Amino acid sequence: MKKNIESLEKEMLVCTQCGYCRSVCPIFEDLGWDSSVARGRVILAYGMLKDRFDIDDSIVETLYQCSTCGDCERRCPSNVGVVDIIEWARKELFDDYGLEKHKKLAERIKQYGNPYGETEKRGKLFGKTPKNAKVGLFIGCTPAYRNPNIAKAAMSILDKLGVDYTVIDEVCCGSPLQRIGGDDEEIKELIDHNMDSIEALGIETLLFSCAGCYNMFKNHYPDFRELKFKPMHITEFLADQDLPLKEYPKTLTYHDPCHLGRHAKVYDAPREIIKKIPKAKFKEMDLIRDQARCCGGGGGLRASFGDISERIAGRRVESADFADVLLTSCPFCVNNLMLGKEAKNCAVEIKDIVELTDELLKEKNAD
Ligand code: SF4
Ligand code: SF4
Repeated sequence: MKKNIESLEKEMLVCTQCGYCRSVCPIFEDLGWDSSVARGRVILAYGMLKDRFDIDDSIVETLYQCSTCGDCERRCPSNVGVVDIIEWARKELFDDYGLEKHKKLAERIKQYGNPYGETEKRGKLFGKTPKNAKVGLFIGCTPAYRNPNIAKAAMSILDKLGVDYTVIDEVCCGSPLQRIGGDDEEIKELIDHNMDSIEALGIETLLFSCAGCYNMFKNHYPDFRELKFKPMHITEFLADQDLPLKEYPKTLTYHDPCHLGRHAKVYDAPREIIKKIPKAKFKEMDLIRDQARCCGGGGGLRASFGDISERIAGRRVESADFADVLLTSCPFCVNNLMLGKEAKNCAVEIKDIVELTDELLKEKNAD
């Protein structure tokens, strides 16, 4: 639910500066400055609200050095909505002080409907055109243009299961703009485009392979427009299906994406899919579910502070290096964890759970 400035101000004031958030923030762990933890950012946002100082580069940098992972909110005894406060501050800063890479990303979304500046319609890339169907698949910009294996795997799974589904005439879901402080009017335009396309096709259930798109639809779209369909992450859909999977005698572990886990509260579904894999051994990492440490890829952090983002990813991958395969369920996490793996020279293989599911899923009626 979108908060007004009065309720955000109250939340800023209930921060007792206890510092509990220091124990979980991946940025604080990396940089070690008190300004680079939730309480520091909350003070800066309050100072901005009350016009207590002139904005300078260090303030902008601090407010953008956050992956919006939300772990501080989980740890906070005062229930401060840190991510909402930071996103509010970013919206205040964006026009005059927004970071160059974020501005370019916003311009590309405005011009091309995706943050990568790609011109091909995404359904067409996979030989699909929208049609009337009760189940829809929202491909997402990153699976479409950067991780096509994930998009193809999602489609292949639905085909093998005999699901009658459609792609939609989609543009960016708006999540990158929401995270970096983009303009609400521009976000609303994207939302209207997607919602009109979905409603025109009679879709009742809309599936997502991207945790960021799913969280945007589930938690932010209702602030702008009523959802007349059920958004589901594809892992939630697959957890309820009979999945005839081949044996996979390897040790698997799972990284909870922040936008699927802490933000959208989906923890069990990916684990239920993993449990269905014959002969696989599942072993959890140390920090899991709502306590999972961020991969460092979200909130615009990777675009503007790639060095911090990569170090955070490296630490996360190192903590999974006991496994043969580190699974996750977000293309952004896959990509950032891959950078961390390379930086730390880890052996663990990294895959999205839909890629592995498709690899192991037998054709319907196959032996
Ligand atoms: S844990 Fe919450 S109340 Fe304590 S310093 Fe952090 S944001 Fe403030
Ligand atoms: S949202 Fe995550 S990165 Fe941002 S201040 Fe909170 S714990 Fe740190």
